[in-house]
Amino acid sequence: MPYTIEESLCVHCGSCASNCPNRAIVRRGAEYLVTTMCGDCGNCIQFCPMEPKAIGKGKTRADFDNKKIAKALKEKLSLQKGIAAMKYADNPPEGVPEEDGINFWCHICGDMFEGTGSPVFFTAKMSNCGGSSLIGIGARGTDKEQFCTVIDAFVIGEGKSYASVDVWPAGKSFFPRFPKVYGGVVIGPLEQVKMPDIILFPINAHQLSLISTAYPFDTGDIIRGYGGTSQCTMTVAAPLIENRPVFASGDHGGRSHVRLTDAELVMSFPYKLVPGLIKNLDRTIYAHEAAEGA
Ligand code: SF4
Ligand code: SF4
Repeated sequence: MPYTIEESLCVHCGSCASNCPNRAIVRRGAEYLVTTMCGDCGNCIQFCPMEPKAIGKGKTRADFDNKKIAKALKEKLSLQKGIAAMKYADNPPEGVPEEDGINFWCHICGDMFEGTGSPVFFTAKMSNCGGSSLIGIGARGTDKEQFCTVIDAFVIGEGKSYASVDVWPAGKSFFPRFPKVYGGVVIGPLEQVKMPDIILFPINAHQLSLISTAYPFDTGDIIRGYGGTSQCTMTVAAPLIENRPVFASGDHGGRSHVRLTDAELVMSFPYKLVPGLIKNLDRTIYAHEAAEGA
């Protein structure tokens, strides 16, 4: 456990728990405990009123090794496809090429799921749809008339995705707004993107059940699922801004771009919560059943 609470100094005010971005501190009886979801950020220390502080670093978390994390996640969940990672930056990091043609965010993620992609820096300029603004990298650079023509042709009307343009933007109000517009985002296989912000991967119902048992194991927090709007809106904004995992069905276009089978959904997880998830996958009823059956 990276952070711990020294019980003899703690006055049980709960300030650390309310200010932990990972919801990693829980109350058990009279005591507060730091759980496996701790991401080692140090935020809680500032909010502890005690001097010396009652909460602090035990062991440093050394487990943010993306190659090890990808391997463990694939093994423990029996994932059949690759894991995509997204890391926001205003400029392309050294050695990461900019996307050199017009593309869709979801199509790039699909390449990572299929194991055929390598890290690219994706910008609004290279985006083929309004999805760039929905993932926080700016607005689409196409003129309004051209954009509306495309929307009318493929999105709005009987036999398409929405009955009218009036209802189409309604879904977006369910999602948090990006606090800033980033220059772009690196999208790549998890093994090749160091300390990403979020990761995404296809899952079936059983894998969702494993994750939905392991993630709340210590904290009781739940995982929300979304349906009803675009793949990017449903899977990027909430995990990135609220630091909470989500799963989503995807929309018609998104599902085909990320190349999901009929049985698959997309899981999106804040990267800092993944080491805790991996540890907890060995602690749940599923893990115990598997051990008994072996
Ligand atoms: S170090 Fe950060 S993640 Fe860990 S308990 Fe403190 S506030 Fe939460
Ligand atoms: S903020 Fe400090 S004193 Fe308050 S519950 Fe957390 S560790 Fe204890």
